[in-house]
Amino acid sequence: MGLKTKEEYIESLRAMNPTVYMFGQRITNVVDNPRIRAGIEATAATYELAEMDEYKDLIVTTSPLINEPVNRFTLPPSSIEDLVARVKINRTLGRRVGTCHQRCTGLDCLCALSIVTYNIDQEHGTEYHQRFLEFLKHVQKNDLTCNAGVTDAKGDRSLSPGAQPDPDMYLRVVEKKADGIVVRGAKVHQTGSLSSHEIIVLPTRALKPGEEDYAVAFAVPTDTKGLIHVVGRSTLDLREIEGCDIGNRLYSKYCPTVIFDDVFVPWERVFMCGEVKFASQMVLTFSSFHRQSHGGCKAGKIDCMIGAALTMMEYNGTAGASHHRQKLIDMIHRAETLYGCSLAASYEGKKQPSGTFFIDPVLANASKIHEGKEMAEAIRLMVDIAGGFVSDLPSDRDFENPEVGGLLRKYMKGVDGVPVENRIRMFRLIEKLALESADFVSDIHGGGSPEAHRVTILREVDLEEKKKAAKRLAGIEE
Ligand SMILES: Cc1cc2nc3c(=O)[nH]c(=O)nc-3n(C[C@H](O)[C@H](O)[C@H](O)COP(=O)(O)OP(=O)(O)OC[C@H]3O[C@@H](n4cnc5c(N)ncnc54)[C@H](O)[C@@H]3O)c2cc1C
Repeated sequence: MGLKTKEEYIESLRAMNPTVYMFGQRITNVVDNPRIRAGIEATAATYELAEMDEYKDLIVTTSPLINEPVNRFTLPPSSIEDLVARVKINRTLGRRVGTCHQRCTGLDCLCALSIVTYNIDQEHGTEYHQRFLEFLKHVQKNDLTCNAGVTDAKGDRSLSPGAQPDPDMYLRVVEKKADGIVVRGAKVHQTGSLSSHEIIVLPTRALKPGEEDYAVAFAVPTDTKGLIHVVGRSTLDLREIEGCDIGNRLYSKYCPTVIFDDVFVPWERVFMCGEVKFASQMVLTFSSFHRQSHGGCKAGKIDCMIGAALTMMEYNGTAGASHHRQKLIDMIHRAETLYGCSLAASYEGKKQPSGTFFIDPVLANASKIHEGKEMAEAIRLMVDIAGGFVSDLPSDRDFENPEVGGLLRKYMKGVDGVPVENRIRMFRLIEKLALESADFVSDIHGGGSPEAHRVTILREVDLEEKKKAAKRLAGIEE
C-alpha cells in the first residue's frame, strides 16, 4: 500500500494473469514480452519520476480523500492548481518518454466519474458517487494505473447502438444479477491496457431512451475472467520483438483491442447503469479532460522532436543554415501554443457540484484540434531538417556485417568528430518519432476524431455572447 516504486509497479503487473494474444499467439508472460514491456516502461516512468527529487514535488501530492501522499495520476483535481499540474506533468513525461506514457487516460476517466456520478445521484437518488469514491480510495491507496475503456467497436457508424444488426457493437449489459451485471462488447484502441491494473469503462457516445443497456460505466481488473486483450500491430512493432533497429531505446506504445466476452462486474464496481441522459455528460467530461492531457504530453513530444532535429543539424553540418533555424522556431511555437491552450483550459477551470474541478472544454478542444494538424506539421519540419535516411536507413545488422558494415559506416559519416553510431541512432529515433503509427494516428484520433472536437466547441462555446458584442457595436437593439 502507498506509493509504488517503479519496480513494485512492474512486479504488481507480473502478479496479474490477463488473457492476451499477439501475432496469433497466446502471451503468458506479458511483463517480459519486449513489445509490451516497452509500453510498460513508458507508464513506469510515471512511478519512477515520483521517486526522483527533481520531479517529486510536481507529481506527488496529498489526496484529500485518503489524506495520504498519492501520485497525481490517481487524483481528480480539486483546485485550479491541480488542473495546471496535470498539464505540466504530462509535458514533463512526454518529453521524458518521447511517446505516450499511457497513464493519463485512466486518470481522465477517474476525473469524469468524480463529476458525473455525483450528478447522476442528485437526479436519480442512486449511490454511484459513494461507490466510485470507494474505488478511488483503492486506486489511490495502491497507486494503481487505470486504462480508459471508452471507444466501442461501433459497427455501422450511421446507426445508433440500439439499431445495429449486431447489438454487441457497443458494449452493453446482457444480464443483471443480484450481485452484479454481465457485460458484452469490445473496447478498441486500448492504450496500455496491459500496463494497467484496472480498466474503467465509460459509454462512448450520447444515448437515448431505449438504449439503457448501453449506458454503463464500471471498473474491473484487467485480468478479470472473460476479458481478452489482443495487442494490435503498429508500424515499427517487429523491431521491438527482434530487438533490432529500435529508434526509442527505452519506451514505446501499444494499443490492444479488448473484448468483453460476458464479463461479470459486481455492483460495487458499477458507476452508471441505465441513466441514458448522463451518457453524453460522461463522454464529454472524459474527452475534454483527455484533450487537455494531450496538450501537455504532445508538447513534450515536440520537445523531443526539436531536440532530435537540432542534434541532426549539428551532425549534418546544417546548424548554421538559416532556414533550419526558422523551422526550429516553427516547431517551438507549435509546442508552446499547444501547451498554452491546455494551460489556459486549466486556468479557466470551474468547480463542479461534486467538488471536482473541470477544465474549460472549449479551450481543451481547441488545443486538440490544434494538435491534430500541428503535430503533423512539426513532424514534417523535423523530417525536412533531418534528411532522407529517416525513411530507409540500413539495418544495424548491415552495419555489423563484416563485408559491408565498414563501407556503410564510411558513407554514413556526417560532420567530422561526430561518431557515425550517433548519427545512425538519431536517424532511428527521428524515424520512430515521425512514423510510429500508434503515436501518429493518436495525434488525430486519440481522445476522439477531429470532428468530435469541433462539435464540442460549437456546443460548449457561448455564441450568444459573441452575437451580443457585435450587435452592440453595430447599434442594433433588440
Ligand atoms: C493510437 C490511439 C490510441 C487510442 N487510445 C484509446 C484509449 O486508450 N481508450 C479508448 O477508449 N479509445 C482510444 N482511442 C480511440 C479513439 O478515441 C478513436 O479512435 C476515436 O474516437 C475515433 O473513433 P474510430 O477510430 O472508431 O473512428 P470513427 O469513429 O470510425 O471515425 C472515422 C471518421 O468517420 C467520421 N464519423 C464517424 N461516425 C460518423 C457519423 N455517424 N457521421 C459522420 N461522420 C462520422 C469521424 O468523424 C472520422 O472522420 C485511441 C485511438 C488511437 C488511434
